[in-house]
Amino acid sequence: MLMTPAEYVESLRKLNTRVYMFGEKVDNWVDHPIIRPSINCVAITYALAQDPQYEEMMTATSNLTGEKINRFGHLHQSTQDLVNKVKMQRLCGQKTASCFQRCVGMDAFNAVYSTTFEIDEKCGTNYHKNFVEFLKYVQEKDLVVDGAMTDPKGDRSKGPSDQADPDLFLRIVERREDGIVVRGAKCHQTGSINSHEHIIMPTIALSEGDEDYAVSFACPSDAEGIYMIYGRQSCDTRKLEEDADIDLGNKRFGGQEVLVVFDDVFIPNDRIFLCGETEFAGMMVERFAGYHRQSYGGCKVGVGDVLIGAAGLAADYNGANKASHVKDKLIEMTHLNETLYACGIACSAEGAPTKAGNYQIDLLLANVCKQNVTRFPYEIVRLAEDIAGGLMVTMPSEKDFKSDMVVGKNGETIGDVCNKYFAAAPVCTTEERARILRLIENICLGTAAVGYRTESMHGAGSPQAQRIMIARQGNLEAKKELAKVIAGINTAK
Ligand code: SF4
Ligand code: FE
Repeated sequence: MLMTPAEYVESLRKLNTRVYMFGEKVDNWVDHPIIRPSINCVAITYALAQDPQYEEMMTATSNLTGEKINRFGHLHQSTQDLVNKVKMQRLCGQKTASCFQRCVGMDAFNAVYSTTFEIDEKCGTNYHKNFVEFLKYVQEKDLVVDGAMTDPKGDRSKGPSDQADPDLFLRIVERREDGIVVRGAKCHQTGSINSHEHIIMPTIALSEGDEDYAVSFACPSDAEGIYMIYGRQSCDTRKLEEDADIDLGNKRFGGQEVLVVFDDVFIPNDRIFLCGETEFAGMMVERFAGYHRQSYGGCKVGVGDVLIGAAGLAADYNGANKASHVKDKLIEMTHLNETLYACGIACSAEGAPTKAGNYQIDLLLANVCKQNVTRFPYEIVRLAEDIAGGLMVTMPSEKDFKSDMVVGKNGETIGDVCNKYFAAAPVCTTEERARILRLIENICLGTAAVGYRTESMHGAGSPQAQRIMIARQGNLEAKKELAKVIAGINTAK
């Protein structure tokens, strides 16, 4: 059953998720002004799935139940499904100009489904069935699931078992007849608080001796022993200001990242998807990362569309839209953004079935996609700031524009003065100009910059992680052979 956005929000109220922010417990986190925009953002994934014009993009037929489900809960059954996924993410990015958070679960579903199949095949375990039962439950209830991979990692020169504090990688601390007890944390967790359930995966490839760290499982977000500490975003406390609107740039939507702590959490056997099989940790990591690198060829492009539009409006409002260099900058932004999309579509179109039957992206192209994402949004942001002008970061507050305090010799108010000196081309009011500049500020260096800028660098793996994969998948030796043939060098050498 597809949930409505309102049902989704109400379903969150039923959870007992423990949330802390600014050193205090947040009891009503659903209505907290800093958190609520991120909930609205996830709610869009429900709203669009109810809209007939987006049905093909936003919904799919479950291969597990034959029912119509939200595509965010789908196991990709074809390359078309992979393409539709990217299109869906671009659409959601366009509608929210933020990170809508639900993709990490979708990417975890597809990675864990195929990996558990191969673990069972080799080890005779029961993980795939466990996972399928879990996913059926998620699809039927139309739940949001956080896919959690990133451990704190402590001293980067040491592996999980060699850390001074063994909890710096999430681990099994007790094995019981009926399940396991886990301890540790996952950081940078996108949309954790807004998720009904979590899927936990290891963060790196593991080897013998790391058995306690080779663990994957699902558990409710409000399971006994779990709590979350909210991540700060630049300009976040503007949301606490009374009647805040224009200064927020994006009043309705935002992303969310938190530290999730597992303080000895019990996981029953039927929710375990990996437990000690170290040789499969790398496969799970690689597949999840691959899917999430594909994802960025959709979501970041959608946010980029909004940013390009905002820069175009800023040019119109400044009266600079006829300048050839401004036109050219907008072309360059579009070129960069569409290049990211091309990578997202390409790695999808070149996908192939896994042994389990769901489709996986082309890993090399997905890594190239994400590598470009670590660069192009920065250039797009640079060009947006260039077009917007310095006012984007020097403009007085909304309260000044609306102030009726008299400051001028002829009775002018602060609002009058702001409106006089910040008026630009006649196509816009000063308020419209302020709104667009604040939106650009929000995406480039405000709350949404977490999702658009820095997450473009580090989300789904930092740049070097992709370069390692590109080196592994690039098949340099085969390319050398091609060159030898053309150059007339003996290929047997
Ligand atoms: Fe989805 Fe993008 Fe947010 Fe990742 S960063 S959860 S792909 S919107
Ligand atoms: Fe992400």
